[in-house]
Order: sequence, then C-alpha cells, then structure tokens
Amino acid sequence: RLTTAAEPLDILQKIFGFSSFRGLQEDAVSAVMRGEDALVLMPTGGGKSLCYQVPALCRFGMGLVISPLIALMDDQVAGLKQLGVKAAALHSELEADERVRLWEQLRSNQLDLLYVSPERLLTPSLLDVLKGRSLSLIAIDEAHCVSAWGHEFRPEYRELATIKEHFPDVPRIALTATADTRTRDDILSVLHMEKARVFVASFHRTNLFLQAQPKLSETRQVIDALERHMGQGAAIVYCGSRRRTERVAALLREKGFTALAFHAGLSPIEKRALLLRFRSGEPIVVVATIAFGMGIDRPDVRTVIHLDMPASPEGYYQQIGRAGRDGELSHTLLLYGGEAMARARYWLEQSQAPESEKRVMQGRLESMIALTETTGCRTQAILACFGEMLPSPCGHCDNCLHPPATFDGKEAAQKVLSA
Ligand code: ADP
Ligand code: MG
Repeated sequence: RLTTAAEPLDILQKIFGFSSFRGLQEDAVSAVMRGEDALVLMPTGGGKSLCYQVPALCRFGMGLVISPLIALMDDQVAGLKQLGVKAAALHSELEADERVRLWEQLRSNQLDLLYVSPERLLTPSLLDVLKGRSLSLIAIDEAHCVSAWGHEFRPEYRELATIKEHFPDVPRIALTATADTRTRDDILSVLHMEKARVFVASFHRTNLFLQAQPKLSETRQVIDALERHMGQGAAIVYCGSRRRTERVAALLREKGFTALAFHAGLSPIEKRALLLRFRSGEPIVVVATIAFGMGIDRPDVRTVIHLDMPASPEGYYQQIGRAGRDGELSHTLLLYGGEAMARARYWLEQSQAPESEKRVMQGRLESMIALTETTGCRTQAILACFGEMLPSPCGHCDNCLHPPATFDGKEAAQKVLSA
C-alpha cells in the first residue's frame, strides 16, 4: 500500500472479507507489522498467505513475495486481483507485453504485491529497481525449499541468503508447512534469520484418518480404498517412479476410473492441462510422483494413497495433508512391504551423497519405517516427529480404531480399571 497505513484487522475484513484472524495469524502479522523477522510453520491449508498479504497491505511500500512455482504465483495473483489488490507476478512465462507493463508498474510504484521466483529476484536489473523502492516486507513462501535435507530442495533458494544484505531494513517472513526442527533450523540459518520470531501452529489435522497396511494385493487395495472413500471428490495416488505412475493410471482407467498420471517428465502444457482438470471439480484420480505437490489446493481431495513408502515423515505428512482441505473427513492409506524397506535402505547405503547428508536421510527413512510399523496412535507418532506432543491418542487412526493384535496389555488393563 503506497498511500495510507491501515490496521491489519481492517484489511482482513475489508479486502479479504474474513471476520477474524485464525490461529497464529494475528501474532505473526503483528510481529511483521513491528518490523520483526518471522518464521511461520503451519500445516497446508492453515492460512499462511494472509500472514504476509495483510501486513504487506498495511505497511508502507510494496510487498515482495518469493515463491518457487509459476502456477502458485499466478493463482495467488489472480485471487488478489479479484479482491482489488494490485498484484503481479514476474516470471519466465510472461508474454512480452505483460512484461513491459509490469516493469512500468514497478518503476511507477503502482504495485502492492510483487510475486517473483528466487532466481528472478537476484538478477541485477530487478535488484536495482527494487532498491530504489520502499518495500513493506519480503515473504519467502515454501521456505523449506532452502533445506538441502528436504524433499523439495531448490538450489536457487539458497541464494536468498543475500537478501538480508540487499535489503537490511525490510522485515522478512518465511513460511512453510514442513515442520521438523532440522528444516526449521536450516531455514533460520540459511536466511540469516536467527533473530526471527518463530510461530508454530499445531499440525494435528483432526479430519484425517491415517491408515497403513502391508501390501498384499496392491491393485485390489487401491481400488478398494478409492471405491470406499473417493465419492464425488478427488484422489491422489503417490508412486515412487514415473513409470509406475503411468502403469497404475492405465490400470485404474481399465477399471473404470478417470485416472491421469503426473510426474516431472510431463511437458508444461500437459501439466497445465492436468491441473485444470484436477481443479475443475470432476471426480478424478491423479497418480503421481512427489512432483505433484506444492500448490495443489483442491479442497475435496477425499483420499491420498501411497503405493510406495515416502522417504521421510515430513514428506509423508505434507503429501497426506493435501487431503481434506475443506475440513471434511478424509482417508489416507500407506501401503508398505518389507522388501521395499530393505531396498530403500540398500539404495541409501549405496548412494554417492556426502556422508553427513546420507546420515540425515537414513535417519528420516528409519523414522518413516518406524512410523509405518507403529502399533500405537499414528497421529501421535507423526506429530512427535515434528516435536509436537499430542496428550492422548487421536482416536481417528487405524491403530486407535482397531488396535493391532499385539496390543499393549498395560493400557488395556488401565482402560478396564478406569471404566
Ligand atoms: P497455506 O498457504 O497455509 O496452505 P492458504 O493461505 O492458502 O494456506 O489458506 C488456505 C485457505 O484458508 C484459503 O482458502 C484462505 O482463504 C482460508 N483462510 C485463511 N485465513 C483465514 C481466516 N482468517 N478466515 C477465514 N478463512 C481463512
Ligand atoms: Mg501457501
């Protein structure tokens, strides 16, 4: 906002049309309003965008938002424009005339919010223009991309270390749905945000039903889960390889499902076409590698199925977190086999990665295996991976609803005694 300073609650209500802040939003917004750096950890769908959009519109100057994906930027900008916010995205897929207009807007201070990819931001021409403007804040969305340990590492994000030198007086706010402490520490140190206020929301999603099953008849199990849980919504089936996504999608189509494969090998046009169909609201199964991820915001994903074990609890939780964004009950199913676990261990052992990196990946894999094999509350187990202690079992995962045969005698006895 270039003219008037406004109150956050006012902006929330008048521009975004929401009556009140949710959870930690208000505290995060206040910190940025005071000019402090902040790190916001909230699950997918938690409402991270408003944590930077609101203060960007309240504070003097233009807000700068760093985002890793063009589709993600375009979505946000389209939404903001509808609300009357002067927002734009600068990326490699702009038409020539769009680009010219954007630079004009930039030079004449007409923008409230500018979305930009990390590699774009650090080009001399853009830095030059930005240094002559007032910036209200710099938001680093999907900030886990800085972490080399993570499952969505982007080398360009590491370069964002320099924004503190380029813009020493502008408050920065980093946001992510990846919650483990290692990623958190990585973000703070890579971005030189050691003094940032850290806001951690609960990652407990009460509408997610977590389930893991040994692989018996994979196809049967997937079809069964889809038939039971998909309804009129969507489903995501995650696979470990591109080839497998194609094969499984074909198989599901044979069985009468509308199923499409998504992986990093598709052309941009194919990807966009698939995303359009996915968002259109038709009942559809997307069989995907983990390339299908950030920015997937269909509210009625009713089930997320893993045909292959994820490499880490963080990846797993972020992937199943794409289910049930509308808050309705949603199912997740993880299929696992002892052979796959042994193979994953073997490949890691053989990998050429540096020793230190290998150890971290091994640690994550072992946590994932332990999570898969746990006979206790799955929700408690996964939240514990993020340092969050759920005081009592969730009551809505497979182990809570159907305690495995190897039940804990003591717990059962306590239940009888307290009954
Ligand atoms: P995230 O980036 O954390 O995944 P988003 O910022 O995309 O989440 O927000 C998810 C959804 O929640 C959006 O549809 C958004 O409009 C809605 N939302 C966020 N904050 C509020 C709020 N205070 N009141 C009502 N709806 C909200
Ligand atoms: Mg987001």
